[in-house]
Amino acid sequence: MKSSLHAIFSDTKQGNLAQSIIQKCVHCGFCNANCPTYRLTGEELDGPRGRIYQIKNLLEEGEASTNVQRHLDRCLTCRRCETTCPSSVQYSRLMDIAKHFLEPRLKRPLSARILRTLLLWLLPYNKRLYPFIRLGMFLRSAMPSCIAQHIPINEQTYGQYGQKKHSMPKNPIATVILPSGCVQSVAKPQINEETIQFLHKLGYRVVPTDTGCCGALAHHMSASKITNQQLKHNIQCWYEILMEAELNKHPTYIVITASGCGAMVKDYAYVMQTSNESEEWIQKAQIISDACVDLSELITPQYLQSHLQQNNVKEPCKIAYHPPCTLQHGQNNTGKVEALLKTVGYELLPFADSDQCCGSAGTYSLFQPKIAKQLRKNKLSYLNGTNPDIIVTANIGCQLFLEGGASTPIKHWIQLINQRI
Ligand code: SF4
Ligand code: SF4
Repeated sequence: MKSSLHAIFSDTKQGNLAQSIIQKCVHCGFCNANCPTYRLTGEELDGPRGRIYQIKNLLEEGEASTNVQRHLDRCLTCRRCETTCPSSVQYSRLMDIAKHFLEPRLKRPLSARILRTLLLWLLPYNKRLYPFIRLGMFLRSAMPSCIAQHIPINEQTYGQYGQKKHSMPKNPIATVILPSGCVQSVAKPQINEETIQFLHKLGYRVVPTDTGCCGALAHHMSASKITNQQLKHNIQCWYEILMEAELNKHPTYIVITASGCGAMVKDYAYVMQTSNESEEWIQKAQIISDACVDLSELITPQYLQSHLQQNNVKEPCKIAYHPPCTLQHGQNNTGKVEALLKTVGYELLPFADSDQCCGSAGTYSLFQPKIAKQLRKNKLSYLNGTNPDIIVTANIGCQLFLEGGASTPIKHWIQLINQRI
């Protein structure tokens, strides 16, 4: 698809990148068939091909339009279109450029502005979020369902993350930097604690960092200034630990347990580059992105097998595993979690549309509740149709959102594996 950029985009990094992405699109429409919003609405403008067209027009005309913003807002950024596209169109990069252009130029309705400001102030900061979650648990039944569905049910809450005593291995095989995250550390602190336990049992030295949000939340809301502040804070903290480990010649990884955060950290160098940060920050960000792995990429099934405690495998347990979009499409990581779960004896139940988004998509479910709820309903009907003992996932956002509509317990996969090691 050919495009000629408007003067405000020509000779800019964003403009040139957007143009090279658009040129790859051959307008075949294969992506529409797998796009959750196109499948629901049947509208060309709510599918990837139609959105690419709208972005192309935007780049050519240089004018912000609320109509285009409405259709882009409905996109989940699930990236299913990218894993379908035969021409390797980097749709999410294009979306980032368009959304960052539109956001400062269009005034959203007052209610949307208040909600955005509140979310950006609250969610990335675990110490602010903790009292709200406690209060939310108490008042859950009186809250509107669009908020109540994000409040965790009957769980432990935020404690001193990384302060619990675990037995550290004497001769660790590698060091793991384990970021606390924001919402996960408050809503499901046991995921981080069980990850530390698990990694110690497998011989890793763990360095927990209470760094807070990875920046994904602000980035997806096109709040560039906040995004860059959060990224720089994290980059500096992890960079210092990495450099110290390198001096000691100790292999070191940044391990992420929430796939949404993992996809973001792997993109740090790209974000720093496109926001015109200095070469020094771009290089540091690249080192961070290169050191980042999802927890399922750190451990091989063979290594896990050698630590399996047969005594802990009591009875078979049937699992429906929901692979988050940020893992399967965002990080192109498919089959790894499933292989680990099978290695320790769980039975995985197949179900239809496992490639489709559950509707959570960061803060999407708060801004687009109708579409999000329909997607969750579809997802849960497939998951529950397998009659599982438990539903398992790999991202806190999916876990909390699905939990809001499910009767079957939902856990992070590491909690199930940790039970058997
Ligand atoms: S599948 Fe790829 S090339 Fe085809 S319309 Fe979609 S984005 Fe364009
Ligand atoms: S990211 Fe997801 S919702 Fe957005 S256009 Fe692509 S497939 Fe559709």
